[in-house]
Amino acid sequence: MKIPKTYTQFGQIIHIKIDSEYLAKEDCNGLAEPDKNLITLADENEEHKLDKEEIERNLIHEMFHIALAKAGYSGAFSDEKFAHTMGNLLYEALKSGKIIR
Ligand SMILES: [Zn+2]
Repeated sequence: MKIPKTYTQFGQIIHIKIDSEYLAKEDCNGLAEPDKNLITLADENEEHKLDKEEIERNLIHEMFHIALAKAGYSGAFSDEKFAHTMGNLLYEALKSGKIIR
């Protein structure tokens, strides 16, 4: 999968940017900011350079956070365990079904 610069969710354009420096301060590899319609992804962190699959997986995870927020599930938005599980299950389905390659 090529990481897009934008996609649409709930009719709103969500921007995706790569900014490892910004995320190093937040101590994470991905960040969803639904109020800004923004997902930020890291392509490297203190430990290693993230491979393509890690970045894709992080994108799907952050898309799931955005979906929860935009759909009004604000309580679930910051539930990392829920987003982690659902994001990984969705990624597995998309990847194994060759919906994303
Ligand atoms: Zn998360």
